[in-house]
Amino acid sequence: MRVHKRKRRYRLKKTREARIRVGITLLACLALLGGFFHGIKLLWPVSYLDASVTEIDGIPVYTDFLDEAWRGRTGEQHRIKWLVIHETGNPAAGADAAMHNRYLHSEEQKEIPLSWHYTVDDHQIYHHLPDSERGYHAGDSSVKGGGNDCGIGIEICVNADGNYDQAVDNAAHLVAALLKQYHLDISAVKQHGDFISKNCPEHLREGDNYQQFLEKIKQYM
Ligand SMILES: [Zn+2]
Repeated sequence: MRVHKRKRRYRLKKTREARIRVGITLLACLALLGGFFHGIKLLWPVSYLDASVTEIDGIPVYTDFLDEAWRGRTGEQHRIKWLVIHETGNPAAGADAAMHNRYLHSEEQKEIPLSWHYTVDDHQIYHHLPDSERGYHAGDSSVKGGGNDCGIGIEICVNADGNYDQAVDNAAHLVAALLKQYHLDISAVKQHGDFISKNCPEHLREGDNYQQFLEKIKQYM
């Protein structure tokens, strides 16, 4: 009788151990699978922040992609590695994001290889080019891994009748959203001047403006 009981206890213990072992194996498998899918996600971030987005942190986003007949609309898919920050360099009153959108869409631009993805002013964001497509904004032609090849071009408006600080703040919200969307960190934020010798984004390069801009982005992520 005692022997039988001991045997039973031994069997129960074995069963418990087996269950624990199976549990641990299952957890390990789940962790491995999770890691695997996370890796895949990092390699192919195919979920683009495109036409369906109508606002980012309350800032309206207007999607108006360039016609495919325009030279600026390359149609070439690219890997997103950089968010390339520009300023429009156009201080004229009225030179806001909507105006730059009209400019890109104008007949005069049809044969010009010039395009970027977003223009941001103090109250809105215009989206001109799918994030998945490379544009012509960094001035580094087709250099592999360069600003055009792997960048999303973002223009910040400097129009005299706009609030520049607010435009920069809105750009920080957009950049934070894009970094999150494409699994990038703050090191992916680049100035146009990092790719070619050009003083762009001009005002952001003054003093510690750029550092403050980066801090804002980190805060909004
Ligand atoms: Zn620029």
